[in-house]
Amino acid sequence: MNHFSDAYRRKTPLSEDLFKRAKEVMPGGISHNIHFFPPYPFFIKKTKGSKIWDVDGNEYVDLWMGNYTHILGHRPRVVVQAIEKQLKEGIHWGTVYRKQVEWAEQVRELVPSAEMVRFCCSGTEATMYAVRLTRGFTGKKIILKAAGGWHGANSDLSLGIKMPYEREESLGLLPKLRQYTKVIPFNDLAGSLEIIHQNQKDLAGIILEPIIGEGGFTSATKEYLQMLRSEAQTLGALLIFDEVISCFRVALGGAQERFNVLPDLTTLGKIVGGGMPVGALVGRREIIEKSSPEKKMNKWERILIGGGTFSAHPLTAAAGLAMLRYLKNHCKKIYPFLESKGAKVRKGLQEALDREGLNAVVTGTGSLFQTHFPFEKGVTLNSPQSVHRLTDLEKKEIEFRVRMLAKGVHVMHGGGCLSIAHSDKDIDKIIKAAQKVGKEMKKD
Ligand code: PLP
Repeated sequence: MNHFSDAYRRKTPLSEDLFKRAKEVMPGGISHNIHFFPPYPFFIKKTKGSKIWDVDGNEYVDLWMGNYTHILGHRPRVVVQAIEKQLKEGIHWGTVYRKQVEWAEQVRELVPSAEMVRFCCSGTEATMYAVRLTRGFTGKKIILKAAGGWHGANSDLSLGIKMPYEREESLGLLPKLRQYTKVIPFNDLAGSLEIIHQNQKDLAGIILEPIIGEGGFTSATKEYLQMLRSEAQTLGALLIFDEVISCFRVALGGAQERFNVLPDLTTLGKIVGGGMPVGALVGRREIIEKSSPEKKMNKWERILIGGGTFSAHPLTAAAGLAMLRYLKNHCKKIYPFLESKGAKVRKGLQEALDREGLNAVVTGTGSLFQTHFPFEKGVTLNSPQSVHRLTDLEKKEIEFRVRMLAKGVHVMHGGGCLSIAHSDKDIDKIIKAAQKVGKEMKKD
């Protein structure tokens, strides 16, 4: 038993009880692996703005924000009202309706490379369809992904998430996955170019998160993105940006707007659904249209996308449309606010941990950030491969998390994201908590 979890255990007895029950009915007591951490996760009771409360009545400043979804804070009025209004009209219809069209039009207006939109229910589904469309459209088979990239538990991309990158991530995946899904080193121009050229004959596409979660939310350099863009174009392959986290967060039009590099396809999730279950695939008309059931195409010329009983669910469309309209109407305030608060929290955390003499590095982009604990001083963390090789992942994922929870701050991967509901007081609380945690970690 880790002694650093004592304070957390003392304040969360009801969560401990619930976890015992949960484990009896759900493997690991959870429905998403990331929800589990030892000794046990706390169980949420309610949320508002930047705060969450657990079943024991503890209050936390939240930095996970519903998997980076709640950019306006938990339960923003504009989204709640839209859901309430929709509830009066219907829950699930299983057919088309006006709001779905307005929502798609709004996505197209905001995302620079989006000419057409296909909604689904999760980011995982979106990346699955992106890969299928890419192979179907190009007639080629190999997908290159950035090493360490997370695109959901999509079977086509469940390789190269953690080291060793060349292995499938799970039993049950076909070994031939390795033949058709390969990894390139994020932000390593020469290393990636070599692998692209080795696979050029059968290269269907390249997928990456331009701001990569496993790499501490560090950004791909502009040169790196431009190289991928131009190589894909030259080789007749597609470039796919997975912007499930970054779109509508690092700029209204996502990383593609921020870095001014346009992919052929983009996968969306999280914010686009306003907090309801969602995924979307957007991109060039000629590619996405290949999935249209309207075309008088031979079955073998069409690319199958969905299904999806709950695709473009009316409650999701209502919440998503309300969210996007709000972001559009207030973008001049929201994005500079998130940018400056993100910089403030990163600087504050770094200084606080430095002051305690802890070897920690805070990374991130915009309102996204993570804290890492390198084994040695002076390392550069700009990719998943550097984070995986050079830092103590357990310290970040377990010790720092549990200690921060005991101080009333809910971090994920050593950080998380900010919303417009996070006040300066919240940021002070985060930094003070980290300083106390730094002191404890140094002492132990
Ligand atoms: N892609 C990225 C970059 C993600 O962060 C995630 C989820 O966290 C996914 C895809 C999968 O999305 P979902 O969990 O909605 O299936």
